[in-house]
Amino acid sequence: MSSKNAVKIKFFNGEDIPLELHKVRVVQKLNLVSIERRLEALNEGGFNTFRLNTRDVFLDMLTDSGTNAMSDMQVSAMMHADDAYAGSQSFFRLQKAVEDVLRKKYLLPVHQGRAAENILSCAYIKKKGDLIPMNYHFTTALAHITQYGGRIVELLHDEAYNIASSCPFKGNMHVEKLEEVIRETGAENIPFIRLEASTNLIGGQPFSIQNMREVRNVADRYGLRIVLDASLLGENAYLIIQREPEFKDASMSEVISIITGLADIVYFSARKLSSSRGGGICTNDLTIYRELEALVPLFEGFLTYGGISVREIEAMAVGLYETLDESMICQSPTFISYLVNSLTDNGVPMVTPPGVLGAHVDAMQVCAHIPQNQYPAGSLAAAFFLISGIRGMERGSISNQRDENGNETYADMELLRLAVPRRVFTLSQIKYVIDRMSWLYQNRSLIGGLKFVYEPPVLRFFMGGLDPVSDWPQRLIAKFKEDFGDSL
Ligand SMILES: *Cc1c(COP(=O)(O)O)cnc(C)c1O
Repeated sequence: MSSKNAVKIKFFNGEDIPLELHKVRVVQKLNLVSIERRLEALNEGGFNTFRLNTRDVFLDMLTDSGTNAMSDMQVSAMMHADDAYAGSQSFFRLQKAVEDVLRKKYLLPVHQGRAAENILSCAYIKKKGDLIPMNYHFTTALAHITQYGGRIVELLHDEAYNIASSCPFKGNMHVEKLEEVIRETGAENIPFIRLEASTNLIGGQPFSIQNMREVRNVADRYGLRIVLDASLLGENAYLIIQREPEFKDASMSEVISIITGLADIVYFSARKLSSSRGGGICTNDLTIYRELEALVPLFEGFLTYGGISVREIEAMAVGLYETLDESMICQSPTFISYLVNSLTDNGVPMVTPPGVLGAHVDAMQVCAHIPQNQYPAGSLAAAFFLISGIRGMERGSISNQRDENGNETYADMELLRLAVPRRVFTLSQIKYVIDRMSWLYQNRSLIGGLKFVYEPPVLRFFMGGLDPVSDWPQRLIAKFKEDFGDSL
């Protein structure tokens, strides 16, 4: 499985471009509709890229969730799935994969990552105000914790909030602050410490093994458990091999097993980790397994399917093994790195160093003229779709939730995330992204703000509806036509 050499490919002419290490065997045709149609689509979808219909989307860079390309091995595994309510062979193959790859014996299958968050929050948040320290929140993790009356505290280093940085591990937890928080709060009011691999919302930024060891030390000193959100574990492990000198010659398998070995509970969304559907919670501790066991049939389904189809379970098992293949896992980070570096060269403010999952544009700078209460990142996402047909995702204040008094809580960062799912896009498509984003950056003064016209109380970013605050979309279209003529 280990194929380190495949990752280092140099071009004789000195070009530094990522190379696809796979070939295309099944394709899906894309549509690039006119800019007028794209404006209609935005109007129909409340200027919220989540609400667009894919028939209007050219490159779908909304998310990597469930959109990574499947391998031929995964698709063929789906054909020999064992349909059974209980005791399915597919489940035991998945359990074996979890044991081999994540090195955890006990597996509780769930239908996706947030279902694991629901079960963990339900089981361990015992009283109102219980505190979960974490490196940084993920939207669904936060929503479930607060739903059960818990609170969170985020313990990144200040450097993590610097958009342009050369810090290799912006996802590291501040261990001194962690210890302070535990002493102030009392370990009895802390159900667990949550560590997220490749910290999603700050730009897909990894933590180091050194840092996780330090967090483990603190946890042990206070008798606390560590819960690892391993949804983006493969890429975090890949970046550890790239960036943490101690592990430069280590294999993916070694790095992954060290990380999961430092956690008491590992949960994941298989939509990211193994490019299928589903998710899981796993542990080597039978007590923990027993504490959670009853909740799977309650919320998900019987313990050998957890709300996932057996076909997806088979794909998940194969996908977990494929996560150990460095020549596969390098694909998304190397394309992201190319995208980030090219946009940076063109002056576009990007989150650096390049992380995983996608390229992150700093909307706070691009749309410096748009106040945070008019959602700079949401505005940039809408404007970018309008001029390119590329769908990104707002990761800024729209993705935040209001506080208990109903006030806005503005995000630390206003980002437009352009996801680069594994093995989905070609280099010329990435070049199109660079071209259109660079044009938009030059014309950024034409982008205007947004206001809510429909605001759901929970996870508002999914279904919320917004309107532009002025006729800025029409002005942007006029400039586009001036520069691109009749080009789509
Ligand atoms: C996507 C994601 C989740 C939630 O997983 P779903 O399968 O979408 O429910 C949780 N944590 C992280 C870090 C994620 O990226």
